[in-house]
Amino acid sequence: MSRRNALFARALMLRCPHCGGRDVLRHWLAMREHCPTCDLALAAGNRAGAYILNLFASEIAAVLFIFSIVVRTWPNPPYGTLQWLVPVLMVIAPLVFYPFSKLVFVAIDLALHPGAEPDPQVHETRR
Ligand SMILES: [Zn+2]
Repeated sequence: MSRRNALFARALMLRCPHCGGRDVLRHWLAMREHCPTCDLALAAGNRAGAYILNLFASEIAAVLFIFSIVVRTWPNPPYGTLQWLVPVLMVIAPLVFYPFSKLVFVAIDLALHPGAEPDPQVHETRR
């Protein structure tokens, strides 16, 4: 597996994209500031990009899910169900994708700078 694929695979398994270390989440909605294994800064500098990625991924997933319901039930889509399901999905989807988007954004940052030392402004280490 290439380094880039490993970065994204680790992020999608909710592990540190840099080293694969576990326990990078304090709980589902809070990531540790630093990886407990390699000490890479996980939260600093990644908030805005991760939020944009989270919004994009969760809204695309929600729209695809709703579109699939409409297509499968056409010509009589369940409009009554969709009226409450759409707002619920729009709230739940970003919560479900939140830790993935944070770690995938760290993986994107590391993939865009192969061979570079982590940016001390963004990925500072405490060593
Ligand atoms: Zn790590």
